[in-house]
Amino acid sequence: MEKTIIRIFAKTVNPLIRIAFTDTGCEWVNDTHKINIDTTEDGTEFNKNLIADHKFDGQTINDHIWKVLHEIGHYYTMADCDEEQDEEDRLLLEKLFDQKLISEADWFHFYYNLEAEYIATEWAINYIKTHRKKIDFFNKLLERVI
Ligand SMILES: [Zn+2]
Repeated sequence: MEKTIIRIFAKTVNPLIRIAFTDTGCEWVNDTHKINIDTTEDGTEFNKNLIADHKFDGQTINDHIWKVLHEIGHYYTMADCDEEQDEEDRLLLEKLFDQKLISEADWFHFYYNLEAEYIATEWAINYIKTHRKKIDFFNKLLERVI
C-alpha cells in the first residue's frame, strides 16, 4: 500500500519516472528515468534540518515524499551540474571521512552541500512550495497507512 502510494505520487510528478524499492540507499540512476527508493532508510535528521531552514508552514514533509522529490530533482538538475567537479568533491569527502578528519555530522553537512545534492534538494523544495495541495494530500495519505 505504502509503496503503491509512493509510486503514484512519483507518477504525478513525472509519468515516466520508474521506482525500484531497495534497502541499499536512495539514488537516481544516471541518464535514466529510474530512481531507487530505500523505504528502510530513516531520513528524519535530513528532514528536520531542512524544515529548520525552510519552513513549510511548520508542516513536516513525509520522508518518502522528500526522497522521491530529491531523486527526481537529480533527474531534472543534473545537466546544470559540473559532473567532473562533483565527482572530485565526492572523492575528497570520502577521503576526509575515511581518514577520520571529519565527523559523521560534518560529512552529512558537506554531502548535502555538494553541488548535485544541493541543486536536487533546491528543486524538491521548490516543487513542494509550488504544489502545496498535492503534497498535503499525499502527506496525509502516507501518514494514514504507515
Ligand atoms: Zn542526492
